[in-house]
Amino acid sequence: MLNFKLSPEQEDIRRAAREFAEKEFTPEIIEKCDREEIYPIDIVKKARKLGFSIVKIPEEYGGMGLTLLEECLITEEFYRVSPGIGSACMSSTFGSELIELFGTEEQKEKYLRWLTEKDGISAMASTEPEAGSDVASIKTKMVKDGDEWVINGTKTFITNGTVCDFALVLARTSEGKKRHEGLTFAIVETKQKGVKATKIKNKLGLRASDTAELVFKDVRVGDENILGKPGEGFYQLMEFFNHTRPRVAAQAVGIAQGAFELVLKYTKQRKQFGQPIAAFQHTQFKLAEMATRIQAARLLCWYAAWQCSIKDPKPELSSMAKWFAGETAVYVADWCVQLHGGYGYVGEYPAERYYRDAKITEIYEGTKEIQKQIIARRLIGKLEGGS
Ligand SMILES: Cc1cc2nc3c(=O)[nH]c(=O)nc-3n(C[C@H](O)[C@H](O)[C@H](O)COP(=O)(O)OP(=O)(O)OC[C@H]3O[C@@H](n4cnc5c(N)ncnc54)[C@H](O)[C@@H]3O)c2cc1C
Repeated sequence: MLNFKLSPEQEDIRRAAREFAEKEFTPEIIEKCDREEIYPIDIVKKARKLGFSIVKIPEEYGGMGLTLLEECLITEEFYRVSPGIGSACMSSTFGSELIELFGTEEQKEKYLRWLTEKDGISAMASTEPEAGSDVASIKTKMVKDGDEWVINGTKTFITNGTVCDFALVLARTSEGKKRHEGLTFAIVETKQKGVKATKIKNKLGLRASDTAELVFKDVRVGDENILGKPGEGFYQLMEFFNHTRPRVAAQAVGIAQGAFELVLKYTKQRKQFGQPIAAFQHTQFKLAEMATRIQAARLLCWYAAWQCSIKDPKPELSSMAKWFAGETAVYVADWCVQLHGGYGYVGEYPAERYYRDAKITEIYEGTKEIQKQIIARRLIGKLEGGS
């Protein structure tokens, strides 16, 4: 039988996440972190203590041992109140999924426990100044020297770049027959000599989240820090995204839900032509469209996350969820501003912040164009003479 009802435990988790976000992410803190681009480390630590950001890490490594579905529920609730602070909290273990998926027992013991027991913060560094969507064109090099590997190169737009303790860094270790062969992930402790992190300021949105350029100059790691076998990095990254894109969809659903609640309230209060603007049929149709798209995005997100939860991720579903939910967030945030009129354009209402925060969900972890490419490739298959 098909069942759309969350379990009592899942409902409890959702409620706890909502209560935490509404209590801790106060309007004053949200405003200050957004305006001054402050990373809210105290709230990040509190969320960690309560298990929210380690919900998916197995219990044997100190996590909560739950699934991506529960993580998506928490993510939606956090982003509903504040996408910026939600990002700081829920992305504080970003990249660790790679260790969960491909790490050795020793790597899991050391690095997952660093997150669950020592407030560690992680990152995943794939993007470079000249290699974004085209991951296979990365230039960062990792060369074997005795028992060690030496890393040189520059990564950009790295979430948690200045605050992380370790990062999963993708580098070229050999020239494969194909461009995407010969890439390898290394777990790099980022407080060591040779790693330079520079915060990227003046982002459009998610301003409470840390984003940085990371430069690696003759940084050494041992064999024990290589993830899987050399040359597997590209495939590991694609598998990683199958598991993380539903979470971006949950971020987008949270942003859309927060913006929707705001605009619903406003349209019932704001009067023009002697009546609430919610009385105009055009407004009603927009509210109906927004609510429908949000519900559709949420169901797609849950479906994609559930596939991961049963250990059968579907790349096309993860991409569908990410693309559709991202577009929904941008659509709803746009109408949220529009229906606030001039008040939506100024900082007095959070409408403008949701509008700024929404856009990133169509860009990171693969742009919406790349998502559509993945979906289409699964539909069409490999074409003779195609690239
Ligand atoms: C706030 C923030 C946080 C981020 N966090 C991380 C992180 O933690 N780790 C990390 O590694 N990266 C991170 N990124 C990087 C992000 O994943 C990339 O910005 C994204 O993948 C796009 O790459 P790009 O910026 O180089 O754009 P490009 O790849 O240059 O794309 C530019 C445009 O061209 C389009 N395009 C490119 N190729 C094609 C194609 N084949 N067909 C059609 N259209 C195409 C794109 O869709 C886009 O519209 C982050 C970025 C931001 C802004």
